[in-house]
Amino acid sequence: MESEREDIQFFNSLTREKEKFVPIEKGKVKMYTCGLTVYDFGHIGNFRAFIFEDLLRRWLEYRGFKVTQVMNLTDVDDKAIKAARKNGVPLKEYTERYTKAFFEDVATLNIERAEFYPKATENVPEMIALIQKLMDKGYGYRGEDGSIYYEISRFKDYGKLANIKVENLKLGARVKTDEYAKEQAQDFALWKAWTDEDGEVFWEAPFGKGRPGWHIECSAMSMKYLGETLDIHCGGVDNLFPHHENEIAQSEAVTGKKFVNYWLHNEHLLIEGKRMAKSLGNYYTVRDLTAKGYHPKDIRYLLLATHYRQQVNFTFEGLEAAKNTVDRLTNFMHRLLEADGKSGGDQLGPLMSRMKSGFEAAMDDDLSVSEALASLFEFVKDVNILLDDNSLSKDEASEVCNLMAKFDKVLGVIGEIKKGEELPKEAEELIMKREEARKAKDWKTADAIRQQLKSMGILVEDTPQGVKWRIEKH
Ligand SMILES: [Zn+2]
Repeated sequence: MESEREDIQFFNSLTREKEKFVPIEKGKVKMYTCGLTVYDFGHIGNFRAFIFEDLLRRWLEYRGFKVTQVMNLTDVDDKAIKAARKNGVPLKEYTERYTKAFFEDVATLNIERAEFYPKATENVPEMIALIQKLMDKGYGYRGEDGSIYYEISRFKDYGKLANIKVENLKLGARVKTDEYAKEQAQDFALWKAWTDEDGEVFWEAPFGKGRPGWHIECSAMSMKYLGETLDIHCGGVDNLFPHHENEIAQSEAVTGKKFVNYWLHNEHLLIEGKRMAKSLGNYYTVRDLTAKGYHPKDIRYLLLATHYRQQVNFTFEGLEAAKNTVDRLTNFMHRLLEADGKSGGDQLGPLMSRMKSGFEAAMDDDLSVSEALASLFEFVKDVNILLDDNSLSKDEASEVCNLMAKFDKVLGVIGEIKKGEELPKEAEELIMKREEARKAKDWKTADAIRQQLKSMGILVEDTPQGVKWRIEKH
C-alpha cells in the first residue's frame, strides 16, 4: 500500500473549488454516501453514482487511508410507501426484496462493500431524538397538518450548498413531499403526521404518530455511525437540493459544528444523449444489461471511465467499446503470463515509472480517471511492442503483472487472470462423453452435456475440424 499523500485534491461542491484533501483524523476517512431507495431495482444511473463512490473509496485506500463508509438504504419514504401499496405488499416485505437485489447488483459490479448499510426503518429512534432536539432549539415547529417542519429562515446558512439566497425564499411556506425544486425552497417536513395513505407505516413519537421525512434519515444515520463532522459526503447532483441542503440545515442546527468538509457530487447519466426515463423506454437496470448478455466488467468500465463531474452518455456502441477495452486489458495480462523472452534491458523501468506517476497524478487530481486510463493504455501499448519484439523476460513480465494488479485494485475491471487455458479434468471427461453421445447420435445427451459445461463456464462448439472449446471470461 502506498503512503498517505498530502496532495489529493477534490472539487468541493460547497466552496465550488478544488481543494486539498485533509482528513479530520490523520490516515482515516469518514465517508457518507446516500444509498438506494429500495422500492425498485437500481438503474444504471444509480450505479453510476455507486461506482464513482467505489472508485473514490478504492483510490483513498490505494493512498493508504482507512476508509469508513456508510451507505444508507432508504426503506421508508414517499416513493417506497406508494410502490408497496400499489403492489399490495407490506412495506417491509416489499423493500426487503429490492434490498436483496441491491446487494446482488453490488456484487455483480464488483463494488467494494461499505462498512455500514443502515436501514432507515432501523434507526427511527435516532431520528425522533434529532427532531426533538431541533424542536427544543426552535428550528422545528408543528404545522396545521400535525407534521413537524424545519423553519429554514432560522438557519442563517440555509442555501449555502445549492447557492441560493435566503431573501429569495418564500418564508412560512411549507412542503411535505421529499423532493422539490430550488425555486420552491421552503420549510420542509422532518416528521410526517400519519395519514390514511401511510396505512400501517407509522411510529409513535412524542410529537405524534407518523414517519420520518427523507432528509432527517441521512442526518441521523450519518451522525450515528460517523460522528458530528464527516470528511466526505457523496451523492448524485440531483440530491444536492433539497436533500443535502436540508441535511446540512438539520445537522448543523443541532451540533453547531460543520457537518461535512468535502461534498462530492457526480453528474447524471444520459441514454443516447437523452434523460433516462421509464416513459421514454430507455430505462435500464444492471439486470437488463446482463440479461442482454453484457458482461458486468464491461458495464463497470463504461460507468467508471468518465470523470464523475461529467455526464456519462450511455450508448450500446459505448458498451461495445468498453467490452473491447476490457478485452484488450485481459489479453494483455494473458500475454504477460506467457511471456518468456530476452530481457528488454533498461527499456521497461522508465515505462513503468512513467505509467505509475501518470496514473497517480491524474487520480490525485480530483479522480481524473480518463487521464489515468490514458497513462495505463499508453503503457500497455509500449509493453505490447516489447512483447512483439520478444524483449520481455519472465521476471520483467511478472513485474508488469504486479503493477497492473495494483492499479486494477483501484479500477476493478480485470480481476484474477489464470495462466493458460487448461480444462479441469471433470470437463475433459464431459467433453469425451459428449463426443461419444454425438457419435451415437444421442443429441439429447450431447445437448445436456453442453449445458452442463456452459454452467461451468466452458463453451463448446462443433466445427468441421472437430470440437473446439473455450473458457468464458470470468
Ligand atoms: Zn441521503
